[in-house]
Amino acid sequence: MEEKVKLQIRNMKKHYKNGDGVENINMDVREGEFLTMLGPSGCGKSTILRTIGGFLDIDDGDILIDGCSVKDLAPENRPTAMVFQSYNLWPHMTVYENLAFGLKIKKYSKEEISRSVKRGLELVNMQGFEKKYPGQLSGGQQQRVSIARALAGDPSLILADEPTGALDSRTSREVLNFLKELNEEGNTIVMITHDNSIALEAKHVVRVHDGKINFDGDVKDYAAIIQAGNEKHLEQ
Ligand code: ADP
Ligand code: MG
Repeated sequence: MEEKVKLQIRNMKKHYKNGDGVENINMDVREGEFLTMLGPSGCGKSTILRTIGGFLDIDDGDILIDGCSVKDLAPENRPTAMVFQSYNLWPHMTVYENLAFGLKIKKYSKEEISRSVKRGLELVNMQGFEKKYPGQLSGGQQQRVSIARALAGDPSLILADEPTGALDSRTSREVLNFLKELNEEGNTIVMITHDNSIALEAKHVVRVHDGKINFDGDVKDYAAIIQAGNEKHLEQ
């Protein structure tokens, strides 16, 4: 079976005004893949993810999702959804309102919103929490709600920026297993982590260093580099 390419990044460059940023970014993600993006703090991982999500305009090159350039897609038509380390739930809105907000932007009808919110919360096992505020939930529950919010709009590409970074190891495991289940159901996932052991659970690993990609390949090849104690070679 020929696998479809979901995401293509071609010679992408994004520099902030101060000169920091990423360049020469080339990357292919096939439909149904689970890719982890690794690299030291400040290397440019979040910058790359935000450009894929269309939150940051790029300076050069192109980013294609299902063959469409992200810059040509209006926010309400983007097939992506983001999950953040800090959950980014709106504290003054209930769980229901947090999920409904993005769907209103996507111009869902009231009935569609109600159905999508219900399905999103079911997916993460958070039914019954609609009227709670984020401050009334544990970190793991808030992360599940933020994943439900990402899923409610039925995205075909999930972008997760260190989604387990703020969670204890048991809750991290739960969230990770949950993302793996979503991937097994066919969702394509690009997840940032700075934890090698988490990266080793994916099939495809991309490593970023100093604003450039310095490894892109199969997890087995990445594991071999780490096992040989040669990870430092990737820093050069
Ligand atoms: P990572 O997610 O790998 O930690 P980032 O993509 O957040 O890295 O940052 C890459 C580089 O760009 C860093 O040097 C960071 O300080 C800089 N940077 C990130 N966001 C901004 C911004 N909004 N304005 C200016 N510089 C930024
Ligand atoms: Mg980051």
